[in-house]
Amino acid sequence: MTLEDLNLQIYGCKKCRLWQEAKHGVPGEGPLDAKVMIIGQNPGADEDKTGRPFVGRAGKYLTKTLAEYGIKRENVFITNIVKHISPENRKPYPDEVSACLPYLNNQISIIKPKIIVLLGESAKETPRLEGIKYVQIIHPSAAMRFTKMRDRFRIQISELSNLINSTEA
Ligand code: SF4
Repeated sequence: MTLEDLNLQIYGCKKCRLWQEAKHGVPGEGPLDAKVMIIGQNPGADEDKTGRPFVGRAGKYLTKTLAEYGIKRENVFITNIVKHISPENRKPYPDEVSACLPYLNNQISIIKPKIIVLLGESAKETPRLEGIKYVQIIHPSAAMRFTKMRDRFRIQISELSNLINSTEA
């Protein structure tokens, strides 16, 4: 299966209730051979509007901070565990996560990243696979709001940058 096939499946998916109020499915984006994959929990309003991941305020903050430490967003595959927005941006229910996880698992099998970066809560739900390094960091929306978290977030991105540089492609 190709990434394009998977995207088409996501756009037409009705495996859980979340498609009903969404404008767009948000499969994720990035190069097929990305060494690093970043995974959030679910798309927000800006992502639902555009069909693209992490394009709202938190996404822009993440992109800017990554760039400050030499990590180009265009080299990273960015996605979420759940591919449609939740009503009022609530946390996805466990049955919605279970219904959607096969898409993420397929994306991981296709892209074969060396490093997976888990943002905030997404860490609890992402399956761990052998041969991949997992890094859990503060969600950028929390880092934007709280100074202490922002400082910690920057340290985590700096450590991520070192890990990427020391991990063979
Ligand atoms: S959230 Fe996932 S499982 Fe639910 S409808 Fe959307 S793509 Fe399908």
